[in-house]
Formats: sequence, C-alpha cells, structure tokens
Amino acid sequence: MDEFVDFIRSGPLGPLKKWGTRWSLWPVHLVTACCGAELAHAFACGYDGERIGALNYGIARQTNLIIVEGAITRKMAKVLRITWEQMPDPKFVIVMGACGLQGGIFWNGYHMVKPSDVVPVDFFIPGCPPTPEALLRGIRQLQEKIVTGEAKTSAVFPEVPLESGRKPRVLPRSPKRISKAPAVIVNVPKNVEWEYGQKLVGEIKAKVDALSVTITGKNRIAIKVGRGDIPKAAMKLREIGFDHVKNVNVIDVPNEDKFIVEYYFSSYSVKELMPVLVNVFADVPRENPKVKSLAKMFPSADYLEREMHDFFGVVFEGNPWTGRKFLLAPDAPEYPLRKDFKLEEEVYSR
Ligand code: SF4
Repeated sequence: MDEFVDFIRSGPLGPLKKWGTRWSLWPVHLVTACCGAELAHAFACGYDGERIGALNYGIARQTNLIIVEGAITRKMAKVLRITWEQMPDPKFVIVMGACGLQGGIFWNGYHMVKPSDVVPVDFFIPGCPPTPEALLRGIRQLQEKIVTGEAKTSAVFPEVPLESGRKPRVLPRSPKRISKAPAVIVNVPKNVEWEYGQKLVGEIKAKVDALSVTITGKNRIAIKVGRGDIPKAAMKLREIGFDHVKNVNVIDVPNEDKFIVEYYFSSYSVKELMPVLVNVFADVPRENPKVKSLAKMFPSADYLEREMHDFFGVVFEGNPWTGRKFLLAPDAPEYPLRKDFKLEEEVYSR
C-alpha cells in the first residue's frame, strides 16, 4: 500500500493528481454562525463559486474541504473534529471570519475554541464577515497551495482497526476543573502598550460615573457601572464618539444570584475609535432582572435586547418588544439560556 501511495504522490501521476484535487474541492460547510450567509452568497448565482472547481456537499465522508464559518464553541469543537476525522485524505480546512481566528466579537467568551486547536487549518480568511470575494480568493489560494505541495496532497489510507483497543482520538480537553461556583470576571486588567487607550481611559473616568474602568486588552476597555447607570454611561460614551452598540450580552451567574448585562460600543465616525470596543456592564439581580433599554438612544441595541430577553428573561425597560417572544417559537421553553439546572461536566469521547 505504501508503494502505491508513494507512486500516486510523487510518481508520474503526481501532477495529474494535484490537478484533479485542485479542481475538485467539495466543501462541507460547518455553518456555526453568521459567516455562513457569506458562504451561501459566494456559491449563489452572482459569484457562482462552482466556476472555480468548488461545490458544496453535504456528506462529510465524501468531501475534502471543510469551510468553518465563524465561531467554534466547545460543543461545536467536537463536531468539527469528528467531521474532519470522517473525511477521506487528502483533506483541507479553511477558516473564515474573525471569530474563527481570534474569537471575534466573542473574544472573551468562556466557551470559545480556536479551530486551529482542533484541526489543522490550511487557510484563514479574516473579516467580520469576510466578503464572498475574500472567500473565493481563499479557495484560489488553497488551490495554489495544493499545486505547490504546501497543502497536503498525499493520498493516505489509514488502517482503522475495528476491534477494541484502537488508538483514541485526540479531542479537545475538557475543562481541568469544574467548579460548583464558576467565577465570571469580565474586567480582568491586562498590561498592554496602548498609549491612546490610557488617554481614553482618562477621558472616560472624567465623564462616566463608573465603578471601575479597566483596559482588558489592546483596543478593549471594560467599564463597570451600577445597573441604573447604563444609559448615563452610554450618553457620555456617545459624546466621546462611540456612535453605535455592537453587541448586547447577558451572562448568567446563578451561584452569585445575578446576571451580568453587557453593552459593547464602538464607532463608525471617529477614526481612532473604530478599532476600539468598550464594554459597559452591570450586575443585575436574578430575581428582578431589569435594566433600562438603550434602543431609543442606539437603535442597533434594539434587536439585540429582544434576543437577550428571549433567552434570559432580562427585562429591558422601554424596549417595546419586552414581554413577547421575538426569535423563539411560541411553544419554546421560557428563557432557555438561564442556567436553572445543575451544571454538568462536559464529556468528550476519548
Ligand atoms: S466573524 Fe463576524 S460574521 Fe463571522 S461568525 Fe463571527 S460575528 Fe459572525
């Protein structure tokens, strides 16, 4: 078998095999998040990705390329790994989107896993989301790598013993310690060289009535306020130049009997502020989870508040949608992301 593989890989048929592989990419798309819409766009009639020899396919065992579309969580890491293991060689992985590179907007999420920690990645496509052009360019680059041999092009037929005792798969490690009272800290300070950030923190401290203002990374600032002070803080941030809400998030911390409600602000209009994400957060008691809505001040918060209300039951006072279901089906369980159950250790097959 080894001689046969060598013959295919480097014999006179080698270039033919590379040529065939290059123009026969069958991506199985792992739609884990919003980047999936861009992939659909890239293969729809406008861009017609099939022109360049790639056609989406639904069955892992007959595909040779995974396109990871966005965020990979701990739960999805297992699916990604198993999908990759089911695919025949040669196989390739493209990761699209900021979430797959560094966590993107979920950069400080406890649940995020880098796809490159789970499977070997041949090509990253940055962007949030990357454009269809960027995805098609990534596929072209992968095709180049297949021809130059940088991407794996060897045909390998591993022998899989069917009896017990087969080599265990290496899956993502489960957390080392499962705490009954997991700490959730969203303002961990980080020493980074960011001169503009220091200046910005000074300005924020002078204007916002905050409990703490912390640099949590380059271009990242966390501001803790009292739960009634979120609108005031938002107004001051708007004066500084933050003109939109990028994300609204709720973290359930049942052991401390609270939710943490977070708003992420950024700017489209002030050049220096464009890469900066400011997180304004407040602790909110679980038995009376109410905060004032920012939907009137920042329209982009509206949809996100509705979503968080659906999932956690946090009431955003002033948002006209509060009290109704927005995303979930009418008969879906109430507030499905509340941790109103015993947390159990994750189990991966080994
Ligand atoms: S990179 Fe942006 S578009 Fe892609 S999954 Fe993440 S948030 Fe969504």
